[in-house]
Amino acid sequence: MENLFDLRGRVALVTGGNGGIGLGMARGLARAGAGVVVAARNAEKSRAAVEELRSLGADALAIGVDVTDEPSVSAMVGEAAAWRGRIDILVNNAGINIRKPAHDLSLDEWRRVLDTNLTGAFLCSRAVHPHMKAAGAGKIVNIGSMLSIFGAAFGPVYGASKGGIVQLTKSLAVTWAADNIQVNAVLPGWVDTDLTRRGREEIPGLDAKVLAGTPAGRWGRIDDFAGIAVFLAGAASDFLTGTAIPLDGGYSSLL
Ligand code: NDP
Repeated sequence: MENLFDLRGRVALVTGGNGGIGLGMARGLARAGAGVVVAARNAEKSRAAVEELRSLGADALAIGVDVTDEPSVSAMVGEAAAWRGRIDILVNNAGINIRKPAHDLSLDEWRRVLDTNLTGAFLCSRAVHPHMKAAGAGKIVNIGSMLSIFGAAFGPVYGASKGGIVQLTKSLAVTWAADNIQVNAVLPGWVDTDLTRRGREEIPGLDAKVLAGTPAGRWGRIDDFAGIAVFLAGAASDFLTGTAIPLDGGYSSLL
């Protein structure tokens, strides 16, 4: 029987794959046999991530990209497609946060977060679509958040961007189902990364709140995201599309 979790011969493009959750997913995809393109702005971090993936035995490549910039996204997808002649999997993981209540948020800050988290996912998805359509198959994994579900005083624009990710996921899923492209979202709970390390500095009491609110009793680790990346990237999820799956140690289930 076919191994539903075998990604050998496939190519995955992971935006923000040079650290945090993106790197956790990239490691999972690499271990399952996929070639991985790490796409982000910081060339030094991307080089180190690629070196690590190669040390796992994977085929890996770094490409510089700013997901907010349309020409940069087209160039990235062109280069990624030319690398091994295919793009089978896109993980839209690049993201930022500016934690401020709405009354303190400037228009420029609002736009910066939406451009990265939501418009970036749109631009990358639109750019890979012709490659996946021509190949007759594809997988897109979008990264949402607990703020796709909940509201927070410090997260008006982040929440708007991550709520938007869920609806973008559904629209792309129904539009591209006929092209045999499955599009799903993962909604991480609280995960220990650079992003939340900054959050812990900016939001007093966050650490205790996360531990109390997460039934698993711990912060997520980036390697907690390896398995779902493999599942959503491979044959195991071929009839799953348009979903938003919390991966949160139970955070969103606790009253
Ligand atoms: P990190 O800050 O570690 O990772 C963010 C990644 O995005 C970096 O690799 C960064 O690389 C990349 N990135 C940011 N802006 C751009 C851009 N304009 N173009 C290309 N790449 C960009 O944080 P996390 O791993 O925590 O975040 C990853 C995703 O997970 C984000 O979408 C975040 O919103 C989401 N998330 C995280 C949670 C958590 O608890 N940590 C919870 C819920 C969701 P570089 O700087 O090199 O460009």
